[in-house]
Amino acid sequence: MSLAMQKDSIPYYRPTGNECTIFEMAHTNGLPLLLKGPTGCGKTRFVEHMAARLQRPLYTVACHDDLSAADLIGRYLLRGGETEWVDGPLTRAVREGAICYLDEIVEARKDVTVVLHPLTDNRRTLMIDRTGEELRAPAGFMLVASYNPGYQNVLKRMKPSTRQRFLSCTFDFPAPEDEIAVVAQESGLDTARVAPLVRLGGHIRNLSGMDLEEGVSTRLLIYAATLMASGMAVERSLDVAVIEPLTDDEDVKTALRELVATIY
Ligand code: ADP
Repeated sequence: MSLAMQKDSIPYYRPTGNECTIFEMAHTNGLPLLLKGPTGCGKTRFVEHMAARLQRPLYTVACHDDLSAADLIGRYLLRGGETEWVDGPLTRAVREGAICYLDEIVEARKDVTVVLHPLTDNRRTLMIDRTGEELRAPAGFMLVASYNPGYQNVLKRMKPSTRQRFLSCTFDFPAPEDEIAVVAQESGLDTARVAPLVRLGGHIRNLSGMDLEEGVSTRLLIYAATLMASGMAVERSLDVAVIEPLTDDEDVKTALRELVATIY
């Protein structure tokens, strides 16, 4: 593969600090990494970018409250009358020396942490109780997890005993100049039109006392810019891509529309 082709196949990511170096060092030294930050601020894209840069396969698992250790490790399945062991994404990643990304790890069931402990210390081992296998992770394997500390759910906090097994990096929405570049790049809308949109995003994120669970994500700003770039009017784009996704409350919608009017 030529260098130009390799570069093209790396998903676009604009660094906002020293996160790329941290990731590379963690990978080189076989250390797990935890990315903390709000939804839609670039964590997944960052991992995709780094996996491509390091030329490792990537297994991404979107964790949910029903996700169990067996979903990650694998299970026996009936195939054509025979039971056959099928590896889950974590096992595949360990076997292949790949990167495994557990998105929103706190959502997963408790038994998942038991599996992760021997993988995240110097043993770097995955125990597969069902088959009796004990896999030692090869050098290329890396465990990356993300969680959103903004959700103030006591039950869904990460246990210190698990947190303290990971290097950790805080992610936040990019600074305005970075966010303008990202939104313009992703949507194709010119930077002059992206700038007020990013300003609006900043204002919404600074709102206090409003019934918003979270500030507007970079992802939503990209949606709005994409609609504008396809010819949709500004107000309508902001309505469907920013205001409606953020709230169901009519009073809050009205307040957000007033905020839009101060910028546009
Ligand atoms: P998260 O995993 O934090 O929920 P994503 O990685 O899915 O968020 O980010 C949402 C979108 O925002 C991505 O698809 C990408 O288009 C964009 N994005 C956010 N930050 C960046 C960045 N620094 N560089 C490139 N794209 C970014």
